[in-house]
Amino acid sequence: MVTVSEFVQIVLEITAAEAAVSINDENKTVHLEVETIREGLTCPHCGAQNIPVYDTRPRRWRHIDVGKYKSYIHYRQPRCTCPHCGVVSVPPPWAPKQCSHFTNAFELEVMKLAKSTSVLQIAIHFGENDPTIWGIIKRRADDAMASMNFQDVRRIGVDETSSRKGLG
Ligand SMILES: [Zn+2]
Repeated sequence: MVTVSEFVQIVLEITAAEAAVSINDENKTVHLEVETIREGLTCPHCGAQNIPVYDTRPRRWRHIDVGKYKSYIHYRQPRCTCPHCGVVSVPPPWAPKQCSHFTNAFELEVMKLAKSTSVLQIAIHFGENDPTIWGIIKRRADDAMASMNFQDVRRIGVDETSSRKGLG
């Protein structure tokens, strides 16, 4: 058996000062409330370390389902006062780079399904609306494009026959 704090450490890769799980049987949701000790934060923009906490704001992320239950992580996200960048939000390890109401794990699950399933089907599967799912796919695709480096590309090949047929 593990405690909730140990579970959080394993699953979310953070050291939780406090963690609690509650289940809402009526709307089939699991809620994980996480508290961490916030000391010496690292600025997510410039990497400056040991910055004091400015304030915290309550946030909620949808995480991957637990069986038939939707799961949510609740956490007070801190902001720090970086000497170089000013007041900056410090996202927890489960949050995507860009601001999202979903965890990285959830978004990756969506991307995996998107290879073989329509966006509408994914939306129905997760009980979300399709513009929300499109938003995740677009953001992840933009992130992937932004991290690609085409600096060394000297020549690209285009199949003219295919592109004329609308395949390229
Ligand atoms: Zn900074």
